[in-house]
Amino acid sequence: MPDAVQLDLLRQRACSPSLPQDYEPIRPAYFEPSQIYLTKGSTATPERRRFVERICALYPEARIAERLDTTHNRLELDSKEPLSLHRTGKHTLVFGELASAVRFASEKGNACPNYWHFSPYGFCPYGCRYCYLAGTPGVKFSPTVKIYVNLPEILQQIDNIAQRLATPTAFYLGKLQDSLALDSLTAYSTVMVPFFAEHPWARLTMLTKSAYVNRLLNLEHRGHSFLSWSVNPPEVQATFEENTPSIEERLQAMRHVAECGYPVRAIMMPIIPIDGWQEVYSTFTKRLLETVNIQRLTLGGICIYGSARDLMERKMGTRNVISEHIDSTTPKADDGRERYPQSLRHEVYALIIQVARRLRPNLDIALCLEEQALWESTGLAGNMGRCNCHL
Ligand code: SF4
Repeated sequence: MPDAVQLDLLRQRACSPSLPQDYEPIRPAYFEPSQIYLTKGSTATPERRRFVERICALYPEARIAERLDTTHNRLELDSKEPLSLHRTGKHTLVFGELASAVRFASEKGNACPNYWHFSPYGFCPYGCRYCYLAGTPGVKFSPTVKIYVNLPEILQQIDNIAQRLATPTAFYLGKLQDSLALDSLTAYSTVMVPFFAEHPWARLTMLTKSAYVNRLLNLEHRGHSFLSWSVNPPEVQATFEENTPSIEERLQAMRHVAECGYPVRAIMMPIIPIDGWQEVYSTFTKRLLETVNIQRLTLGGICIYGSARDLMERKMGTRNVISEHIDSTTPKADDGRERYPQSLRHEVYALIIQVARRLRPNLDIALCLEEQALWESTGLAGNMGRCNCHL
């Protein structure tokens, strides 16, 4: 344990972050913005303006507009119909600042322990048909892809909170966005990973579907950044995760960062009971564990609010495998989300746990956004809190 003087030195080194400067922005795969908006705060300092302009220069074909008196979440797009608005948003890049970027998740009605999370980005360019986020109030109104340029201030807020808590604490990036989808553009990882590496208490947990990990490979991380991939069998990815990196690419990315010593995790969520799911998920679980030495596996089913379900059904029709399984369940759970019936959730979790345990008897396995009854019936109650978003 470092003494007080060492802690203070570590903190001082950690806490002078700035926006990335000496790097070449690269256009990320899976994102083709046709319009870019500079909203309130995005060019408030010379450092921010330079950062934003270098990224804009990569997209000469995009229409660029300044809306410096409008906050990022008040930006109105032309479309009104929900699906067309959503599609326009996925091709709209917004620069802004987010003052309340570090928050404590205090959701009630499921067994998840609460946790800190933060947002240097908002939403993401990928096209998952089941997307939970698309129906949340902030995203529904303005479903654009956002980069918040106040990263240094966000990290200072994390430092303040972590100093107050004075115990190793995870700060999760991935609740309201994808954590790496835009990293080739922003190079934010090159500021965040060293910040957390130096910090005496704050730890980073990130969730992504991206396969772009180049900027992470040579960073000093000291095991303080936990990288987690959202994965599903290729059959599920092909049908339900439009415009995302393939599972093969994600597995390769996971291997690369694991070889660099990062702690790597996987989350299989939402598990989708397609025809023959028993064989499909058994085969994929085996492949995942044989390909990457993950430290933790978290499982979850669909848990969707009504507005996100509405958007999903506009994309896939009401007769899709997810909606049909939700419809055979009892009314919504205490947290207002719709899920598959408990018996089906138990069946899929139990099978995957059995396959995983056969290969890795001591692997940490947990559930995400689940009810107490499921933790107990699957024998995982002792693992509560040893899941994706926590240390
Ligand atoms: S990666 Fe996450 S936020 Fe992005 S579309 Fe898929 S589910 Fe939604």
